[in-house]
Amino acid sequence: MIELDDRTLAIQRQARAWAQELKPLALELDQDPDAIHRHLDVAIVSYLTRMTVPPEFNPDPVVIDGRPFYGTGTLERVVFAEEVAVGDAGMLLAAPGPVMSGVLVDAMGDEQQKKWFYSRIMEKPTWTFFALTEPDRGSDAGAMDTTLTPDGDDHFVLRGAKRYIGNAARADLGIVFARTRPGPLGVTAVLTETSAAGFTAEPLETIGLRGLRITAVTLDDVRVPAGQVLGRHLRATQRGMWSAVQGLNRLRPGVAAFGLGIARAAYEYVLDNRRTLNTAERHRLDRLGLRLTELRQLIWRSAIAVDDNEPAAGHLASAAKARASRLAEEATLEALGCFGPGARLDHPLLDKLARDARGVEFMEGTGNIQKLNVFTGLVQGHLRRD
Ligand SMILES: Cc1cc2nc3c(=O)[nH]c(=O)nc-3n(C[C@H](O)[C@H](O)[C@H](O)COP(=O)(O)OP(=O)(O)OC[C@H]3O[C@@H](n4cnc5c(N)ncnc54)[C@H](O)[C@@H]3O)c2cc1C
Repeated sequence: MIELDDRTLAIQRQARAWAQELKPLALELDQDPDAIHRHLDVAIVSYLTRMTVPPEFNPDPVVIDGRPFYGTGTLERVVFAEEVAVGDAGMLLAAPGPVMSGVLVDAMGDEQQKKWFYSRIMEKPTWTFFALTEPDRGSDAGAMDTTLTPDGDDHFVLRGAKRYIGNAARADLGIVFARTRPGPLGVTAVLTETSAAGFTAEPLETIGLRGLRITAVTLDDVRVPAGQVLGRHLRATQRGMWSAVQGLNRLRPGVAAFGLGIARAAYEYVLDNRRTLNTAERHRLDRLGLRLTELRQLIWRSAIAVDDNEPAAGHLASAAKARASRLAEEATLEALGCFGPGARLDHPLLDKLARDARGVEFMEGTGNIQKLNVFTGLVQGHLRRD
């Protein structure tokens, strides 16, 4: 059984307190994703704008219980994400900040690129995006078609389309994955500004996690300076897809924590709103409570593996994410079942939680893709069956 140290417990307490502010705003953001612009001064949103900015670029971090909190550790981040997602996963994803792109910049950026990226983040609340998925290349991201071709000595041109890209319509900058040549080593990542000519991002209609505002991005001959291509100082094997996979491995326990938070929100909703429960319902709810505890342990275990760079890290994170999206879905449907046939209309917050749970299934790789990754871990001997 993993137990949290005093520092992480303090972060958990703070996140729980901050998350209280989100519940009353959750339905407003669900109906109008642009509502995020009205809530930039909500404590948690303002913290998220700088979460994960490394200490050398963040002279003024949030202080919790006398200690600075940068959010750069995976365990502290998942503990934080669970609590905030109990308040509202939509707000967590809608907030400005570097999170997804920052992980890639940390892994692949040179000193100048990191300085450029983080100085933009520190200037003002800045949304970022991470564009990997393509319209016909969802789970098979390595087969992407978007191209990056030289244009003179000091520029490149991006050409192609990306789909389901969170926050791109409100972002100033982000990362685009594109291909310089065929094959897995031909993929690379580029820092891209949304103000560049030829860049467009159209919001897509969605039913869950609507705050994130996923978009269809078109890259119509977008010129990028050569200095914005990430990983040029790294070996070819450490650029592109390899770095994307490493980055996604680091982020995946956090996505699992969103699922856990959504499942817990549904569980707590039933406890708060059903005055009496019959024996069968009580039994089902107790079982759900146990599954939440088991999943939390698995997520923490995967986060520790990521922080310790264990070979099993990505596989454990896949196991945690696959289980979290399934539990989020089952818990929200079970909670709706506790309120009868009109539950979706009578309990709009529960209805929203059930829709958000579906989004978790697709974010950062579907359940099937995570199961394939768990299987690979077992075959390669990184994971044990027990
Ligand atoms: C809320 C949300 C936010 C997102 N944010 C981003 C973002 O910021 N950036 C980004 O790049 N992408 C983002 N995505 C896209 C997400 O990563 C993709 O939706 C996901 O990778 C699946 O791709 P797809 O939707 O094209 O489905 P497909 O790949 O077409 O899959 C459809 C179905 O086929 C199954 N399937 C596919 N391949 C296999 C296989 N080999 N074996 C077994 N089953 C398989 C899948 O499990 C799924 O059930 C987001 C998606 C959502 C829903």
